[in-house]
Order: sequence, then C-alpha cells, then structure tokens
Amino acid sequence: MNQKISHPIIETLLWAGVAFAVMYASIVETDSFVIRMTSAAALTLAGYWTIRAVRDRHEAYEKQKEIEYEASDAKFQKDRWHAFIELSHDGIIILDKNNRILKINQAVCDVSGYSMDETVGKPCAEVFQCDKYKEAGITFGLAFLTEEHPSYYEEVTIHTKDGNQIDVGVRCARAKKHPGHRGTHLILMRDLTKIHQAESLEHDFVSMTSHQLFTPLSIIRGHISMVLSGDLGKINDKQKNFLDQSLLSTKRMVHLVTELLSISRLEEQKITLNLAPTDITKLVDTVSSELEPLAKTKSIHVTFNKPKTDIPTLSMDAEKMSQVLQNLLDNGIKYSEEGGHIDISLSVRAHDVMLSVSDNGIGVPRTDINKLFQRFYRSANAVSRDSKGTGLGLYIARVIVERHHGKIWVESTEGEGSTFFITLPK
Ligand code: ADP
Repeated sequence: MNQKISHPIIETLLWAGVAFAVMYASIVETDSFVIRMTSAAALTLAGYWTIRAVRDRHEAYEKQKEIEYEASDAKFQKDRWHAFIELSHDGIIILDKNNRILKINQAVCDVSGYSMDETVGKPCAEVFQCDKYKEAGITFGLAFLTEEHPSYYEEVTIHTKDGNQIDVGVRCARAKKHPGHRGTHLILMRDLTKIHQAESLEHDFVSMTSHQLFTPLSIIRGHISMVLSGDLGKINDKQKNFLDQSLLSTKRMVHLVTELLSISRLEEQKITLNLAPTDITKLVDTVSSELEPLAKTKSIHVTFNKPKTDIPTLSMDAEKMSQVLQNLLDNGIKYSEEGGHIDISLSVRAHDVMLSVSDNGIGVPRTDINKLFQRFYRSANAVSRDSKGTGLGLYIARVIVERHHGKIWVESTEGEGSTFFITLPK
C-alpha cells in the first residue's frame, strides 16, 4: 500500500458495503427466514473481518510511517550534531563512562596531531598526557566535577603526538541521562598558543614603550616645574597658565607610564614581594586616614568598622597592599556623589581574612562586572564622569592580590553602589 488513504473513509465505505449486502440478503428471494438470516449474518461477519483486516493493515502502515519519520528525524539531528562538532573551532572530545575516547573532532586532531583512529577507544588520560595530572592518573579536571560544579575550566599543558608541549584551555562537563546516572564526559579544548603569543607581544610592547617614555617625560616634567618656579626668569600670568596645564598633562602621562611600568615588572615577576608579618588593621587605618582629606573635598564619610575579634598578622608586602587599598578608596571617592559614604570592613574566616570596601556611588553596569579587573577596562558610566582614568588601577590590584595568593572581586548594582572584596590567606 503505497498511497495513504484516510482510515475513517475506508471504514465508512466498507460499513456501507456491509449494510448494502445485509439489505440485499434480507430481500433475497426465498421464503426461508433461516436462510435469509444466515446470509445476512455471514455477510456481516465477512464484512467485519474485512474491515478489521483493513484497519489492522492501515494501523501497521501508520506505525511504520511514524517509525520511519522518527528514524529520519533522529538521523537528521545526529548528522546536524556531527556537523556542528566537526565545524567547531574548539576541540571537542566525547568520552564514555570509563573515560575512554568515543569521538574527537578535527580541531582536536589539529591541536594534538593525533588522528581519530589513533584515539578512539583509548583512555583519554593516556592520549592527552598532561604533566599536572600524570601522577594522579586522572583525565584533566574531571575528578573535580560535582553536583554543585557541573563544569570545570583550567589551563594546562599537554604533550602533542610529535612530542611538543602546548598550552590549552580545557573545559570539562558531565552529561547525564537522569540524576542517578553515572554519565559521560565532554571536554572542550582550546589551543592557547596564539593567545599567549599575542599577550606576550602586547606585554613586550607595553614594557618597551613605557621604559622608553619614562625618562623623557620625567625630564619634561622637571623642566616645566623649573620654568614655573621662576628659576629661568620671570614668567607672566598667561605663560604660567599654559605651563600649569602642560605640567598637569605631563604629570598624568608620567602617572600612566609609571602604572604601565609597574604592571610590566609585576607580570615579569621582576618585583619580588617584600613579605613581612603585617597588622592589616593598622594598614587599613593608615591608608584610610591618608585618604580622609581627599574624601572631605567631596564631603564623603569614610568609616572603618574595626573587627571585634583579633585579626591575625598576615604575611604581605605592606607597601603593595597599601597601593591596592588606596586604589579602592580612591575609586570609591571618585565614583561617588558628594556626601556619599564609604565603609571598610575586616573579618576573619576559616582560611582567610576578608577586606571589603563598600560605597553608595554610581555602581557598575551588570555587563561590566566581569571585565573590571582587565587592563584598561573602564565602564561607560565612569568614563562620562571622569575622563582621565586609566583603567589600570584594578588590574594592578588584581595582580598584587593574586601574587599574595588572594582573591579580589566586586559586587555592584548600577546607581546604588559597589562593594569590592579582597581575601588573603591566613
Ligand atoms: P580608573 O579608575 O583609572 O578608571 P581602575 O582600574 O581603578 O581605573 O577602575 C577601572 C574601572 O572600574 C573604572 O573606570 C570604573 O568603571 C570601575 N570602578 C572602579 N571602582 C569603582 C567604584 N567604586 N564604583 C564604580 N565603578 C568603579
């Protein structure tokens, strides 16, 4: 049956045929009531069985069509996923429940040098060897996946087939059929070589230009100051006005170059931290009183909520950490309205000490929160308020905090205020 005929129509036609046959049988020319009834019953039965047979066949046909449709749909979905996996620029590795490789895409082959045939069926940890997990014998960070953290990202170095080492960013996730299912693992792998090369180039450029700019700029600043002070003869008000503006701009440039230099030194690990046991409560006290006069210019009230419990001394570079706190307070003042307030708090937690600096200023747009600690990043609401910022202070703060093995982050609502948090290990 190739052509699909509507099931109810066939049934109606057949029933009409049966009714006609029964009518015909009932008027058949015989006086015998029994014969008439027998013919009618026989025809009814024959009609019933025919209808049933047609109905069954029709239903079987419909079922078959449905199965074919589902199969072709499943094939279409599968093909689409295969194409998607193959076309992805990121490497994709699919593992079975024993962490053996089920599939890798072309991007993984390009990065690692292995072909699909060389990897399928082999333990992932054996093919993609990574020194970090060699001893533990685990596959990337799969062991760290939990219900609360269903995906895990890290940057690791793997060995390629030809014996080279490359840096890759690896994100692992587990796919489960249902909550109790052991699941299979998916791994996304991105080659970081080009990104690292670009970062290194950018770093070299920043480092070189800031070194080259620092000396001439300092000389210009010094000379303008000399002329302004009258050492080279009397200057009139108009000249003084021009020179004042030039000195201000030069100072700003020297400040920027100094920040860039300190970034280069920090990144190159040229600056060794001067670690010493430090009383962080005292450090916060000192920095907040230093910035008190600046806060007063905008009638901003700075409060340091001293902790009730003793804060242990922390091993830190007090000068660098003061720089971090100065930046946070300076920003709090800069990005708050007149009459605002800044609250500083310190608390001891299980493994670290937490410092928070909270303001009721302009806040940070939600979309910018994760970018704030990147180099040169400034929110639009901050740029429109203060066009002179460099967007480097928070980046430097992050580098310094991370070199102390701590963390820095912000929680903020635009228009309501921001709280910057720092944790430092005890
Ligand atoms: P700068 O202040 O020179 O722009 P930072 O690196 O210190 O550089 O800050 C980066 C950006 O973070 C700022 O431009 C601003 O957009 C945002 N920001 C920092 N602190 C605050 C704050 N307290 N309130 C609102 N936005 C802030």
